[in-house]
Amino acid sequence: MVYRNEAYYIKKAAVEHNLKKITLVSKVTSGIVAFLLVLECFFWMANGKGAGNELPIIVWSYLLMLVFNFLCYYFTQIKRIAVERENLLQLDRLIGMYIFALNSFGVLISLSDQSTYNHLMIYTLIMLVSCSFFVLNKKQFLIPLGIALTGLLYGLYNMNGNSDLYQSQLLYLLILFPAGYFLSRSFYHSFKRSVIMQAELKNEVEITRKLSKQLREANRMLEIQASLDPLTNVYNRRAVTNYIEYLENKICEEPYCLSSVLLDIDYFKLYNDTYGHTMGDEALRKIGRVLCDVAEKYNVFIARWGGEEFAILILEGDNRVNRICEEIIKKVHGLQIEHKSSPVDSIITVSIGAYTQSIYQKEDIVVCIDQADEALYNVKNNGRNAFGHKIISNESLS
Ligand code: GH3
Ligand code: MG
Ligand code: MG
Repeated sequence: MVYRNEAYYIKKAAVEHNLKKITLVSKVTSGIVAFLLVLECFFWMANGKGAGNELPIIVWSYLLMLVFNFLCYYFTQIKRIAVERENLLQLDRLIGMYIFALNSFGVLISLSDQSTYNHLMIYTLIMLVSCSFFVLNKKQFLIPLGIALTGLLYGLYNMNGNSDLYQSQLLYLLILFPAGYFLSRSFYHSFKRSVIMQAELKNEVEITRKLSKQLREANRMLEIQASLDPLTNVYNRRAVTNYIEYLENKICEEPYCLSSVLLDIDYFKLYNDTYGHTMGDEALRKIGRVLCDVAEKYNVFIARWGGEEFAILILEGDNRVNRICEEIIKKVHGLQIEHKSSPVDSIITVSIGAYTQSIYQKEDIVVCIDQADEALYNVKNNGRNAFGHKIISNESLS
């Protein structure tokens, strides 16, 4: 991503960085300036306030700088200007102007201070802050700092003439300026490198995140497929084992009521013998679809128990069991799959055995399933194409 829009990303990162630094610099500078202001006022008062009680220019300069810093702090921290594509250029220009203003203050203070300390200390400090705190392009450095330096040299010349002091100040500033420039450029380049590296890293993280999401999705699909019966699309025997394990663990929480339902297609061997195995598969597929619909409608677990037998496990009492059994029988009738050789009917029919009991221990689950098998056996003995449901009731469990 950074390759396509490198210049934009670097500029945006630089502007964001500079805005943060403006907040910091204005906060720190305000503190320093406030201290210097107090100091100057103290000297002014200690020296008899001067003629006409007028405040010296340096005090005004400090006051002005204090207001300026407060405004910068207000806009960058309190108002928090958001960096957008639309205002990026304007903000970049404003940062250039800020650097100019900051350095102009340095010049003003340096020129107005005549006795307290080294004239150029504040200017040097501000210049060093400009080139080592802020990410400036060549223009942002050369124009504001160039103008400020020219102004400073002009002011110093006016004040000192071509004296020894001026010569030493000139030499000092002519060394300071290129040193600041190289410092600023090297900071700019290392900042650029770190932005590119960060963008590349972000890119990598994004790709890895996408890949692991796809992998998780694929794993989930595999897991589902591994637990489904490919012919009927209901759960397979492996899923039954897992579900029984889940039911066994559930006992640790509290006892519950379980209904197990076993379904068997009537005279299916005869169907295969009459219509062939392929038609038999097709019939199983259709019945599987009916069972899937029921599973979805009642949110119950339905699996292929083996061959032409299916199991339904319902985590509750008798409320819905009879309704589910009736609905399955009705829907299988509705399929109208011809079965001429069946002694029960001319279409495919099913027999269902159901058993409901309270589960207190692991062994109860197997008992419940065995009892459903027993109920199915009874239905078969009584002519098939029906369901039988035996309930061992326990009022305390639902
Ligand atoms: P009953 O009414 O007593 O249940 O008799 P049945 O013939 O249905 O039961 P039996 O257990 O004797 O035979 C089950 C048959 O189911 C035998 C086998 O051919 C058939 N079968 C089992 N699995 C499949 C399958 O995947 N596809 C096909 N087409 N037939 C299957
Ligand atoms: Mg059978
Ligand atoms: Mg059968």
